[in-house]
Amino acid sequence: MVSGTDDETRAAPARTPWRATVLTLYPEMFPGPVGVSLAGDALSRGLWSLETRNIRDHGLGRHRAVDDTPFGGGPGMVLRADVLAAAIDAATPAGDCRPRLLMSPRGRPLTQKRVRELAAGPGVIMVCGRFEGVDERVVEGRNLEEVSIGDYILSGGEMAALVILDACVRLIPGVMGAFTSAGEESFENGLLEYPHYTRPRSWEGRDVPEVLMSGDHGRIERWRRQQSLAITRERRPDLLAASGPA
Ligand code: SAH
Repeated sequence: MVSGTDDETRAAPARTPWRATVLTLYPEMFPGPVGVSLAGDALSRGLWSLETRNIRDHGLGRHRAVDDTPFGGGPGMVLRADVLAAAIDAATPAGDCRPRLLMSPRGRPLTQKRVRELAAGPGVIMVCGRFEGVDERVVEGRNLEEVSIGDYILSGGEMAALVILDACVRLIPGVMGAFTSAGEESFENGLLEYPHYTRPRSWEGRDVPEVLMSGDHGRIERWRRQQSLAITRERRPDLLAASGPA
């Protein structure tokens, strides 16, 4: 377990913990990967909290049905608006101002900027779709913000919710030891990160770039910046175009 420094143990209880509520048909998938390492330690230190709610608890009839066939025909099943709305309403008392995210491949693609905003807020409510998706009316009726984690189709929203949780939690104050380790990373300054090296200095005939051994911090910083630019230009020219001339 992490034994916090005096600073951390004093600061932690003063802050209202960042609060995540996940609506899912598979609550057993949580906390899963966010229950270990950095995010997991922060969870047990009370820096954030995670509540899962089973959508099935609001299902209809003896079989607790949550889905039905699509109007207009077509394959698959659709999560019912009435069932999902009941689950959302039960999870969100009046005055709960957390953003309500719906995991959706049609959503706005997740960015580090949005992650930073979410992490700075009170927390999130996340709705995980399954089957063909959710009845369109609940998106508007419950003011859901559709978020995508990339241009591919998952079988359910749970993995997307875990991705968003992981990305947000590491930015909650006190979660990462050295704050600087967040500021320099890929996307934080509109660029991909420079390459890293550690011991041994020589490995299978490959040497660590000489500049990193120079002890000349100005030179090292210039080299890293130039590497960042070159890698971004080669792999993600769209990032450079988005941030203007670098
Ligand atoms: N028929 C839908 C895909 C449904 S996939 C379509 O073509 O758009 C089932 C569920 O998985 C979705 O409701 C959503 O919650 C989740 N999901 C799938 N891909 C996702 C992605 N790229 N980002 C976020 N959530 C996704």
